[in-house]
Amino acid sequence: MSPCIFCQVVQGELDSEVVQEDDRALAFKDVNPQAPTHFLVIPKEHIPSLSEVPEGKGDLLGHLLLMTCQIARAQGLDAYRVIINDGTGAGQTVFHLHLHLLAGRTFSWPPG
Ligand code: AMP
Ligand code: ZN
Repeated sequence: MSPCIFCQVVQGELDSEVVQEDDRALAFKDVNPQAPTHFLVIPKEHIPSLSEVPEGKGDLLGHLLLMTCQIARAQGLDAYRVIINDGTGAGQTVFHLHLHLLAGRTFSWPPG
């Protein structure tokens, strides 16, 4: 079994509430939601963080963003925030690239 919990989610070894999936990406509910709507969008391949995305994988990053928008549209979200925490100092706790999709409450700026 992979030591990475999001790889375990991809492999179906860890339960998740999947909202969208295709051959390259998976979106599922965050287990500890920080807003009424909180999904995570991840690549199926293991990439530890945004700063470690290999050159030439720009299409995958675009794909993750587009899937995030599609989910927002499908969920009828009229305003939402997309966040990538990169590195421990920025709040990253799971080292498998993921986009947070948050909606359903007021967001402050700058973010905390
Ligand atoms: P980050 O702090 O940006 O690395 O975000 C990691 C996110 O993963 C947090 O919001 C956690 O609540 C979430 N998380 C951790 N384990 C799971 C899991 N098994 N299923 C769903 N979300 C998870
Ligand atoms: Zn992983």
